[in-house]
Amino acid sequence: GLLVDGEARPTVFAQMSAKAVATGALNLGQGFPDDDPPAVVADAAIAAIRAGRNQYPPGPGEIELREAVARHQSQWYGLHWDPATEVLATTGATEALAATILALVEPGDEVITLEPFYDQYAAIIALAGGVHRTVPLRSRTEEAGDLVLDVAEEDLRAAFTDRTRLVLVNTPHNPTGLMLWVGAMQAIVEEAIAHDALIVTDEVYEHLTFGPAHLPIATLPGAQDRTVSISSAGKTFSVTGWKIGWVTARPELVTAILGAKQWLTYSSGAPFQPAVAAGLAMPPAAFHDLAQDLRERRDLLLDGLRSIGFRVSVPEAGYFVVADAAALGEPDAAALCERLPAEAGVVGIPLSAFYRDGQAGEASSYLRLAFCKDRPTIERALERLEAWA
Ligand code: PMP
Ligand code: GLN
Repeated sequence: GLLVDGEARPTVFAQMSAKAVATGALNLGQGFPDDDPPAVVADAAIAAIRAGRNQYPPGPGEIELREAVARHQSQWYGLHWDPATEVLATTGATEALAATILALVEPGDEVITLEPFYDQYAAIIALAGGVHRTVPLRSRTEEAGDLVLDVAEEDLRAAFTDRTRLVLVNTPHNPTGLMLWVGAMQAIVEEAIAHDALIVTDEVYEHLTFGPAHLPIATLPGAQDRTVSISSAGKTFSVTGWKIGWVTARPELVTAILGAKQWLTYSSGAPFQPAVAAGLAMPPAAFHDLAQDLRERRDLLLDGLRSIGFRVSVPEAGYFVVADAAALGEPDAAALCERLPAEAGVVGIPLSAFYRDGQAGEASSYLRLAFCKDRPTIERALERLEAWA
């Protein structure tokens, strides 16, 4: 249900951030960065406000943003989209996901996601009356002792049925930082074609990669026509509060999604659209520098957690490390994350929040810790965890 005791049920992220504020604990829970946006992006927003761009922009988005999205997709991935008919600006990826699912899923249609999954997916699939089917990630321990969470191709294929309407693919993945390998994506495309299903992608971490570059599923043979690709500015430019996202898809799909979007928000943040357009036009080196800086903080957190005794999974992308507390004698990460703010002065998110009720299984002892925070915060959090362990 959407309400609990007459109140809107807070998301696990809002709940844990409130706990951080109430206890003064360091917040490695909710995924928002301590970083400021690149100066060109911030300056463009201020200039747009000063220039009076403060009233409703066109519902589908300012053409300069839609053109910047199309150019970005072409330069980075070789994907070509018509800015006038195949690109839609949205109020964050959150609205893009909601409008897409509400537009394309009829009651009883099946929607496939990985599990764990970003919590919004289950809520919007339920609002649309869809049936949520999941593909569980499997855990294993590497020789070096690290945890690996991965998807098996046969599990992906087995999730498709003749009721599958769409498969929602989140790569790079929240909460694990997994990037789907090309074989897994190929299997998704093949099954989508075989079952005449649509593919929806959530690529909000596309530029926060620490090894191989992100590969959009829409670039695979046969995929572009049946894929709705979604991304947003929040993570790439450290502006999670601006809520500017976008959709790229063929014109009939964009029109259907706009049909839902116009009743959700009508239009999205006027002065932030030209600012994000300026960000998307930054040279590739500027994107790489942001990812490199984040990678160093990832390694700081990973090394610290390993030496405290956590089994950790090494994310290839994104904001988060998954840590297994079982080795520290804590089999229940949900209970641990309730106690940790008061006991250790650190907030994390239990991985079970990314599973359907009761489905976390071996992930019940895992927690998600964010490294998009500044170095002193990460260092102090590690000191506190060390003292607590
Ligand atoms: N998808 C994933 C996987 C996320 O982690 C988030 C949170 N930032 C979103 C979507 C929402 O993106 P936005 O803030 O642009 O609405
Ligand atoms: N995407 C962010 C996270 O995973 C949180 C977004 C939100 O609070 N809804 O932490």
